[in-house]
Amino acid sequence: MMNREITCIVCPNGCTLKVDFDKAADGKISVTSVKGNLCPRGRTYAVQEMEAPKRTIASSVLVRGGEIPLASVRTSAPIPKERIFDVMKEVRAITVTAPVSAGDVIIKDVLGLGADIIATKDVAQI
Ligand code: SF4
Repeated sequence: MMNREITCIVCPNGCTLKVDFDKAADGKISVTSVKGNLCPRGRTYAVQEMEAPKRTIASSVLVRGGEIPLASVRTSAPIPKERIFDVMKEVRAITVTAPVSAGDVIIKDVLGLGADIIATKDVAQI
Protein backbone atom coordinates (compact mmCIF):
# COMPACT_ATOMS: atom_id res chain seq x y z
CA MET A 1 0.00 0.00 0.00
CA MET A 2 1.17 3.53 -0.78
CA ASN A 3 0.01 6.91 0.51
CA ARG A 4 -0.02 10.50 -0.53
CA GLU A 5 -1.26 13.83 0.79
CA ILE A 6 -3.30 16.02 -1.54
CA THR A 7 -5.25 19.23 -1.00
CA CYS A 8 -8.95 19.17 -1.74
CA ILE A 9 -9.80 22.05 -4.09
CA VAL A 10 -13.57 21.55 -4.12
CA CYS A 11 -14.23 24.35 -1.60
CA PRO A 12 -12.19 27.08 0.10
CA ASN A 13 -11.57 24.96 3.22
CA GLY A 14 -8.75 23.24 1.34
CA CYS A 15 -8.69 20.13 3.50
CA THR A 16 -5.48 18.10 3.49
CA LEU A 17 -6.48 14.61 2.42
CA LYS A 18 -4.41 11.60 3.41
CA VAL A 19 -4.95 9.03 0.70
CA ASP A 20 -3.99 5.35 0.90
CA PHE A 21 -3.90 3.50 -2.40
CA ASP A 22 -2.72 0.39 -4.19
CA LYS A 23 -0.91 0.54 -7.51
CA ALA A 24 -1.26 -2.42 -9.86
CA ALA A 25 1.52 -3.63 -12.14
CA ASP A 26 -0.14 -1.82 -15.06
CA GLY A 27 0.00 1.45 -13.11
CA LYS A 28 -3.71 1.50 -12.29
CA ILE A 29 -4.36 3.16 -8.93
CA SER A 30 -7.11 2.04 -6.53
CA VAL A 31 -7.83 4.25 -3.54
CA THR A 32 -8.40 2.23 -0.36
CA SER A 33 -8.87 5.00 2.19
CA VAL A 34 -9.26 8.79 2.44
CA LYS A 35 -8.82 10.67 5.72
CA GLY A 36 -8.88 14.37 6.62
CA ASN A 37 -11.94 15.29 4.54
CA LEU A 38 -14.53 17.37 6.36
CA CYS A 39 -17.28 16.27 3.99
CA PRO A 40 -18.00 13.43 1.50
CA ARG A 41 -17.06 15.58 -1.49
CA GLY A 42 -13.44 15.33 -0.37
CA ARG A 43 -13.44 11.58 -0.72
CA THR A 44 -15.02 11.83 -4.19
CA TYR A 45 -12.39 14.39 -5.21
CA ALA A 46 -9.51 12.28 -3.88
CA VAL A 47 -10.69 9.13 -5.66
CA GLN A 48 -11.09 10.98 -8.98
CA GLU A 49 -7.81 12.85 -8.64
CA MET A 50 -5.87 9.68 -7.85
CA GLU A 51 -7.63 7.18 -10.12
CA ALA A 52 -8.67 9.29 -13.14
CA PRO A 53 -7.48 12.91 -12.86
CA LYS A 54 -9.26 15.47 -15.02
CA ARG A 55 -8.53 19.06 -15.92
CA THR A 56 -10.31 21.95 -17.59
CA ILE A 57 -8.05 23.50 -20.18
CA ALA A 58 -7.88 26.97 -21.68
CA SER A 59 -6.23 27.94 -24.92
CA SER A 60 -6.94 29.99 -28.05
CA VAL A 61 -7.84 29.36 -31.68
CA LEU A 62 -6.89 31.25 -34.81
CA VAL A 63 -9.57 33.59 -36.20
CA ARG A 64 -9.81 34.43 -39.89
CA GLY A 65 -11.17 37.89 -40.75
CA GLY A 66 -11.43 39.08 -37.16
CA GLU A 67 -10.43 42.32 -35.46
CA ILE A 68 -7.87 40.26 -33.54
CA PRO A 69 -6.18 37.06 -34.73
CA LEU A 70 -7.04 34.80 -31.77
CA ALA A 71 -10.11 33.89 -29.73
CA SER A 72 -9.72 32.38 -26.28
CA VAL A 73 -11.40 29.02 -25.71
CA ARG A 74 -11.82 26.48 -22.93
CA THR A 75 -13.27 23.04 -22.41
CA SER A 76 -16.90 23.00 -21.27
CA ALA A 77 -16.08 20.25 -18.76
CA PRO A 78 -12.93 18.65 -17.34
CA ILE A 79 -11.19 16.11 -19.57
CA PRO A 80 -8.87 13.24 -18.62
CA LYS A 81 -5.43 14.65 -17.80
CA GLU A 82 -3.70 12.15 -20.10
CA ARG A 83 -5.70 13.46 -23.10
CA ILE A 84 -4.73 17.14 -22.69
CA PHE A 85 -1.97 16.91 -25.31
CA ASP A 86 -4.36 15.32 -27.86
CA VAL A 87 -7.01 17.98 -27.24
CA MET A 88 -4.47 20.81 -27.54
CA LYS A 89 -3.44 19.36 -30.90
CA GLU A 90 -7.06 19.51 -32.10
CA VAL A 91 -7.41 23.09 -30.86
CA ARG A 92 -4.21 24.20 -32.57
CA ALA A 93 -5.43 22.74 -35.88
CA ILE A 94 -8.62 24.84 -35.91
CA THR A 95 -9.14 28.19 -37.64
CA VAL A 96 -12.56 29.81 -37.23
CA THR A 97 -14.08 32.64 -39.22
CA ALA A 98 -15.15 35.84 -37.49
CA PRO A 99 -17.44 36.86 -35.95
CA VAL A 100 -16.97 34.70 -32.85
CA SER A 101 -19.17 35.08 -29.77
CA ALA A 102 -18.36 33.96 -26.25
CA GLY A 103 -20.19 30.67 -25.75
CA ASP A 104 -19.92 29.54 -29.38
CA VAL A 105 -19.13 25.83 -29.66
CA ILE A 106 -15.88 25.64 -31.60
CA ILE A 107 -15.45 21.84 -31.44
CA LYS A 108 -18.40 19.68 -30.38
CA ASP A 109 -17.54 16.70 -28.13
CA VAL A 110 -13.81 17.01 -28.76
CA LEU A 111 -12.30 13.56 -29.40
CA GLY A 112 -15.49 12.00 -28.01
CA LEU A 113 -14.50 13.00 -24.48
CA GLY A 114 -17.88 14.48 -23.60
CA ALA A 115 -16.65 18.09 -23.48
CA ASP A 116 -16.95 20.84 -26.08
CA ILE A 117 -14.38 23.48 -26.92
CA ILE A 118 -16.17 26.78 -26.42
CA ALA A 119 -15.19 30.37 -27.14
CA THR A 120 -14.74 32.62 -24.12
CA LYS A 121 -14.25 35.87 -26.02
CA ASP A 122 -16.10 37.86 -28.68
CA VAL A 123 -14.13 38.59 -31.82
CA ALA A 124 -15.85 40.96 -34.26
CA GLN A 125 -15.53 40.71 -38.01
CA ILE A 126 -13.40 43.36 -39.73
S1 SF4 B 1 -13.31 17.84 1.98
FE1 SF4 B 1 -15.24 19.00 1.89
S2 SF4 B 1 -14.92 20.67 3.34
FE2 SF4 B 1 -12.89 19.85 2.88
S3 SF4 B 1 -12.12 21.14 1.15
FE3 SF4 B 1 -13.10 19.30 0.27
S4 SF4 B 1 -15.20 19.95 -0.15
FE4 SF4 B 1 -14.34 21.43 1.29
